[in-house]
Amino acid sequence: MRKMIAAGNWKMNKTNSEAVEIVSKLNELIADVKGVEVIIAPPFTALSDVVKVAGKVKIAAQNMHWEEKGAFTGEISPIMLKNLGVEYVILGHSERRAYFGETNELINKKIKSALAHDLKAIFCVGEKLEDRERGNTENVVEDHIKGGLEGITKEEIMANVIIGYEPVWAIGTGKTATPEQAEEVHAFVRKLLTEMYDAEVAGNTTILYGGSVKPANSKALFSKENIDGGLVGGASLKADDFSIIVRNAL
Ligand code: PEP
Repeated sequence: MRKMIAAGNWKMNKTNSEAVEIVSKLNELIADVKGVEVIIAPPFTALSDVVKVAGKVKIAAQNMHWEEKGAFTGEISPIMLKNLGVEYVILGHSERRAYFGETNELINKKIKSALAHDLKAIFCVGEKLEDRERGNTENVVEDHIKGGLEGITKEEIMANVIIGYEPVWAIGTGKTATPEQAEEVHAFVRKLLTEMYDAEVAGNTTILYGGSVKPANSKALFSKENIDGGLVGGASLKADDFSIIVRNAL
């Protein structure tokens, strides 16, 4: 169901002990916060210990394989994540698409596997700068969403899928989409969900904005009608900064 969420994606940053320290501090800083779900995605190596100190912070993995086990050197399976107490998994991040060749088809397999194993998927979509400059933003976002959600039922999406709209040109660049640019795409995503499913799905799906979200710009972004919070990279690495972003989602 639709809710306000502040999610932090730490990417390949922080050791296990650093991660435990930051999540413990964040938990203290947001102790009084109600009405915003707070999620942190540390690296795999920190998941086990971070889950133990998470408190009200929900824990996500940054990726997973779709198979439960087998000869897939270097991969992590959904049952391994579930066994640790992980609740969410980020899938389809643009860095996975760009550097590790992840396609819509592969991301779709991962989403189906996550849902089959009772993990919630934070499913990322978004256009590159050249797509936006050619006026192709909506086509790319539509292609990502239709490809990633192929065969996923209404009940599954409503219960366990969050969409992250992350324009690639805004990730880690300091160039945030304006609240108006982000809102336009979020509204388009809801229209698409109405066409693919129905108005109930469109109205109940949480859609996060990601791309250089900071304490200073988060309030304006989150105040837009179709933006239900943020997926935050760099600014989620410091508990103080991220706690401000969490409060701006209230
Ligand atoms: C991200 O990693 O998903 C992201 C949006 O990063 P940043 O906030 O650093 O742009």
